[in-house]
Amino acid sequence: MDLVTQLLSDLVRIPSVNPMGRAGATRADGFFETDVTNYLETYLTAQGVTCHRVPVSPGRDNLFAYYEAPNPGKRLLFDAHQDTVPVEGMIVPPFGAHIEGGRLYGRGACDIKGGLAAMVLAFLRLVRERPKHSASVVLALTVDEEYTHMGSSAIAKLPPEGIDLAIVAEPTRFDLITTHKGAVRWKIESRGTACHSSTPDRGDNAIYRMSRVLHVLQRHAQELQGSTPDPILGAPSLSVGTIHGGVSPNVVPDECVIELDRRVIPGENPDHVPTLVTEALRLHLSAEDFDQLAFHVPWVRMPALRSSVSSSTLEILSQCVARQTGRNPLVSGVPFGTDAGPLGQIGIPCVVLGPGDIAQAHTKDEWIDLDQLRYAVDVYFDLACCLGAS
Ligand SMILES: [Zn+2]
Repeated sequence: MDLVTQLLSDLVRIPSVNPMGRAGATRADGFFETDVTNYLETYLTAQGVTCHRVPVSPGRDNLFAYYEAPNPGKRLLFDAHQDTVPVEGMIVPPFGAHIEGGRLYGRGACDIKGGLAAMVLAFLRLVRERPKHSASVVLALTVDEEYTHMGSSAIAKLPPEGIDLAIVAEPTRFDLITTHKGAVRWKIESRGTACHSSTPDRGDNAIYRMSRVLHVLQRHAQELQGSTPDPILGAPSLSVGTIHGGVSPNVVPDECVIELDRRVIPGENPDHVPTLVTEALRLHLSAEDFDQLAFHVPWVRMPALRSSVSSSTLEILSQCVARQTGRNPLVSGVPFGTDAGPLGQIGIPCVVLGPGDIAQAHTKDEWIDLDQLRYAVDVYFDLACCLGAS
């Protein structure tokens, strides 16, 4: 087995499931990145590389390593996240790393332990060979990409100095992604007065109130669809994803809660988006209904990415990809968010680039094509060599 397949197998076998906000999640049950961080630190240290762990939240550390090129030149950030989405509903063993038909199966194989393994090995090859005109590389292995991007947000607050370009590993089939949507997620709660359901007029039904809220939100979502679209990503969107309310059919409910997902496009400020929704509700609901709503603070506020990568840099990256994979990559945008959102927001030019297809990410039989995986090591190494002198 080649090195990158071996490393990916090891990483898939170590659970690093993002708890995605669920209460009571523990490391013993496979949640959090700690075990993968420990493994990667040991792996890199054994190759003579000094690692730095930076705590982001309890038990969740970003891991950094540094390659200083022999000649001063460009400085790259290699970003890959250590966490995966949960494993419920999977029809392959999530931590089995089973190989069949040129594919490796398991949670994270595609998103993005494959890209992470390739970045680590490209980084180690740079350290070993020290190519004359290579770029310097800061390797940043982040936590919590799949939920709130705590890891890359922490990097954006205290970024390494002098980064000319961030390469963010995500499954893009080596297409060069320079723009993507961002997301804001928050809860709205409606309140009422509980009473026995045999005399509902004595109470105030919070679910009925929420139904009026939903009516306004649906109209707001339709208006967003008709708003000025981004030329690549299209219009912003709003979706209500969950609703919870009531305790029993014979009790008039005094509480109902929904969770909203608002996708933002470049130019929209994610901090302002909840206010627009609140204002739409204030305008279209009765004062009595509006006064019985509570608006929670968003737990996801990820900006959209519109990266300012020069055409000459994109040309070099395209050539590296074509040379290593035999396919000319597209330069385009995607609807999903990545670690590049917070990095792009502080002005670091970002390209999202990695092996595997997003169609296989987060799926019940997640897998990565092993040819893509092997190409990835060469693509990341080659681009560090070519960009250094550019
Ligand atoms: Zn990912």
